[in-house]
Amino acid sequence: MANSRRLHFMIFVAPTMLLAIGALLLAIMPATPVAAAGQTLAAAATPTAVPIAPKEATTITVKANEALLTELPFDDQQDFEDAQRGFIATFPDLIITDTHGATVWNLKQYDFLTQEVAPPTVNPSLWRNARLNMNNGLFEVTDRIYQVRGFDVANMTIIEGDTGVILIDPLGTAETSKAGLDLYFQERGEKPVIAVMYTHSHIDHYGGVGGVITAEDAASGKVAVLAPEGFLDAAISENVFAGTAMTRRTVYQYGTLLPTGEKGEVDVGLGKGYPLGEITLIVPNDTISVTGETRTIDGVDMEFQMVSGTEAPSEMTIYFPQFKALDAAEIACPLLHNVLTLRGAQVRDAKLWAESLDEAIVKYGDKTDVLLVQHMWPHWGQENIVEYMANQRDLYAYINDQSLRLINEGYTGPEIAEVLRLPESLDQEWYTHGYYGTLSHDSKAIYQRYIGWYDGNPANLNALPRKMPPQNSSNIWAVQMPSSNAPVMILPRATIAGWLRS
Ligand SMILES: [Zn+2]
Repeated sequence: MANSRRLHFMIFVAPTMLLAIGALLLAIMPATPVAAAGQTLAAAATPTAVPIAPKEATTITVKANEALLTELPFDDQQDFEDAQRGFIATFPDLIITDTHGATVWNLKQYDFLTQEVAPPTVNPSLWRNARLNMNNGLFEVTDRIYQVRGFDVANMTIIEGDTGVILIDPLGTAETSKAGLDLYFQERGEKPVIAVMYTHSHIDHYGGVGGVITAEDAASGKVAVLAPEGFLDAAISENVFAGTAMTRRTVYQYGTLLPTGEKGEVDVGLGKGYPLGEITLIVPNDTISVTGETRTIDGVDMEFQMVSGTEAPSEMTIYFPQFKALDAAEIACPLLHNVLTLRGAQVRDAKLWAESLDEAIVKYGDKTDVLLVQHMWPHWGQENIVEYMANQRDLYAYINDQSLRLINEGYTGPEIAEVLRLPESLDQEWYTHGYYGTLSHDSKAIYQRYIGWYDGNPANLNALPRKMPPQNSSNIWAVQMPSSNAPVMILPRATIAGWLRS
């Protein structure tokens, strides 16, 4: 039954990305120039490192955070129940190291999140989500289905077959996936790995495969390695063509340089953070190409749904009829996801995303008792699952359709972002909130997808770039000090230098 098309096998470690991050850390350490009183911004551009100490929350921030406590349904504790349901065990403190003793993953550094009430510096909704993401260890999802959570930013799902285990998404680094599988073996007994499945082409879902199987076992066919069609192209090209810029932007997106704490890095939305370990890739030896395709591996029946072009260029969901379980990969996580991730990517199709969720409801909604995803926690109960998936579907459809409506009324991306609000029926659900994507940048992504970069204003058609070579970007602006008590004038240096456009 299995597609026997065999590709050649390889395993490659990709330390270049880690090295690139290290180089970036050094490169961007000099603090952002800040103009002192009486100093021009140009003069302040001298790259001297000025450590900026974290600050207390301003009165405005405190009030805004307090207002959320009455606006959002904090009494609803269902997510905390679901995130802890089926907990079996974990490793104390959960610090994972590599073979040289270097720290790859450290949950101990988030101990400050044991505090239930959000501190004034953190949005209480984000604080709640960050606390939920602290649940870690091995969890029983349903009979024969387990998940390792909190060992990496993503989850590793473990299906018990007749003679061994099937692993779905072996985390992002070899060290974290090995630690997760060790925990499973400790609690459930050691069994051979029969198959590995990648739900999609993002690195946090395949980078740890070298920690749980060998390239030789995949090459010999001893271990089946399944992936959606286009996986390898997408996995490599998405992180290579614009890889240098993406790596740099990733550091900013996830706050990699910030110390953890209530005035620093708290969470990354989908999980606690990204591990610093060995990234590996083993080429699939079986490809899923069309919705409805099936496999039976080690006595476990599976049906696949292709959802490529939604959250990732190559992605599939997996339905397990024997267990009435649907693994929705990363298209139905309990948050608002990115239509365009800030690290940089090709813009995703929110309309297709909504249609794929609708298709999953039609195909599996009446025969699914548990919905699991490859980040965060599962949902249980057939009616509850259909309502959850329908709201997720409506979330992406609403953002797509309403952004288009406003585009056609003449709004620009930033203008749409200012006026777009969710209807109350969606806004009152925790799982529609912007812990990863936001209404603001998702609506701008819709604008980009359908209209492109030009906002229709002739003044912006050939605008001056932020950085005019060879000068530093700070040279674009000049501070003109007034002779009296008049306000400080900040003028585009272009008007002084004559960089005018016609
Ligand atoms: Zn992911």
